[in-house]
Amino acid sequence: MNYHRYYPVDVVNGPGTRCSLFVAGCIHQCRGCYNKSTWSLNSGVPFTQDVEDKIIADLQDTEIKRQGLSLSGGDPLHPKNVPVILKLVKRVKNECHQKDIWLWTGYKIDQLTLQQRQVLDYIDVLVDGKFVQDLADPNLIWRGSSNQVIHHLNHK
Ligand code: SF4
Repeated sequence: MNYHRYYPVDVVNGPGTRCSLFVAGCIHQCRGCYNKSTWSLNSGVPFTQDVEDKIIADLQDTEIKRQGLSLSGGDPLHPKNVPVILKLVKRVKNECHQKDIWLWTGYKIDQLTLQQRQVLDYIDVLVDGKFVQDLADPNLIWRGSSNQVIHHLNHK
């Protein structure tokens, strides 16, 4: 997997103070996409073990407390990204006590493959759906257009 940006302290992509990772690779080609440079899987730079370890360490940091991790892009659920994302979210849940994970994808939740659905077991919130320019609304929180849905996943 490649990624474009990692922000160790971020207060604009999800609730509270967070770590945010923007990955490479997206097939959705939404009109009006702000992140066109992320569409190619080969764009950005390789997501290495060092970057994964840094995210875990940042989430464990007791000086600047993070509420959790935000995963966006690009599309973290691009089939080619899923194995690396799955490994990351498993580590966050196992090693970072009580941190929440938000994930933004262009797929609809009911279109996800079994492979993609594995990730849902480890995240807290999925914001799903393509960005639809005609439904764009700057007043929406955590989503760009009104067709997108914020799913709070219940793991009971
Ligand atoms: S899903 Fe997101 S990154 Fe992909 S084309 Fe749509 S707006 Fe852009």
